[in-house]
Amino acid sequence: MIPDKAKSGFCIGVSCPGCGGALELQADFFVVVCKHCGSVLRIELPEIPPAYLVQSKINKTEVRFQFDRYLRANKHPLTRANMEITGFYYPYWKIDAIVLKLRNKIEERITAYQDPSESYQTETSIKQKKTDIALTPFQTTIAAGGEFDEIPFSIGMRADYIKLLPFAQDNIQDGFDSYPAIKSWGDIQTALTKNVNIVGKIISADFGINKTELFHPVGSIVYFPYYKIETTIKVKPQRFIIDALTGRVVHDADASQSAFATPSTANSAMQFGQLQVGLHRCPQCGDDLPPQQSFAYVCRNCNQFIALEKNPHLRNEVLSADLSNSPDTFLFPFWSLRLSPETARRLRVIFGGIYNSEYLVIPGFKIPNFEAMFRLSKRISTAAPKLELVPVENFDSRFAPVTLGLYEALALTEVIIYREKVGKQIDSAEKREIFESLDITLFYAPFHPENYFYVDSVLGAITFEKNLVD
Ligand SMILES: [Zn+2]
Ligand SMILES: [Zn+2]
Repeated sequence: MIPDKAKSGFCIGVSCPGCGGALELQADFFVVVCKHCGSVLRIELPEIPPAYLVQSKINKTEVRFQFDRYLRANKHPLTRANMEITGFYYPYWKIDAIVLKLRNKIEERITAYQDPSESYQTETSIKQKKTDIALTPFQTTIAAGGEFDEIPFSIGMRADYIKLLPFAQDNIQDGFDSYPAIKSWGDIQTALTKNVNIVGKIISADFGINKTELFHPVGSIVYFPYYKIETTIKVKPQRFIIDALTGRVVHDADASQSAFATPSTANSAMQFGQLQVGLHRCPQCGDDLPPQQSFAYVCRNCNQFIALEKNPHLRNEVLSADLSNSPDTFLFPFWSLRLSPETARRLRVIFGGIYNSEYLVIPGFKIPNFEAMFRLSKRISTAAPKLELVPVENFDSRFAPVTLGLYEALALTEVIIYREKVGKQIDSAEKREIFESLDITLFYAPFHPENYFYVDSVLGAITFEKNLVD
């Protein structure tokens, strides 16, 4: 196999339920077309964190070869006795989240001034307080098994392309044992929140306090492959741990000091979810849905509105601004939460200014720049009461797919409110608030391109940079 240089990070390998062929899923892709039989498939993530496995890329012969190179490079003698090589998988939590960083800095600006009557320049220095707030994606891996000094605490952000397979008996390679995951998802979330806060405090603020807050962590377990070599070098027992993807020696220890724990044969008490792969069809009439990546569809055959994520408060129809007068527009999706009068009053206090709305609206499409998403969300929330919406019968080519699902949108409401409070230095910013809604609607708003921007075609008041979505 020729490795694809463009690919990096993690991908998931599954098999097609139609033909059994192998498929590879990039992160965030939940609709795929099987390249073997053409079936349109939908991947459903389980409610509880799933477990994956990374297979070793090198066999024992290659391990020996890499090991010899390591010994030579480190001036170890090549003579050794009783060499034993065993493979094992060790579990890590892989966590994806959103991080909010607030940094208070004092910036110095120097202004030079040439006095016409003098021959020299005068310089003035102005010191300004500056607060930077940024929402950025965050990914990490943390050891989930027992504490072993000899095994890396994290598999880090690797530049190589790692293929994850479902953690199942069929995928476990011959001769490999697996260590059970011991740290629960709850334990990891607590530890992570603490660690992220500590990181935020280490970077000292020029004034006030810096903040680093983690939002919306999503976890899965990844069993990573290692080889263990136990041997005797110059009558001393030595133990080496080798990364089974790269062949790199990650630990080199005197084995007489400590024993290496053997994997317990008892099953880990922890339960993991399984990825489901099914046919991508309308649940009402069974017709194939478009092979486009979206969290929501309108069936072309029976006009049923289909939202892939179930929520009891989501209205069973999709709305749009009246389009009769705007043929040359693009339609962008938004999740709209109608707030209770009490909640709307609280949000008015937080947003202030021109916000006089009972809606909190989150874009239904991915905007990689979180700050831009935050600004658009505030603008469209403010404008929402002025939009007249009518039901959509069918999606045509003007409708953009819903690439940000309702679950993530609901999590983002918490981030947006927190972000606003932090920006305004509202005292209760420490308190996180989730604004729940008993009435959620997916609606489309028309936008047209103007130079570098999309401008909304109804009010002409909401804009966002074109390059955010291209
Ligand atoms: Zn297939
Ligand atoms: Zn249908």
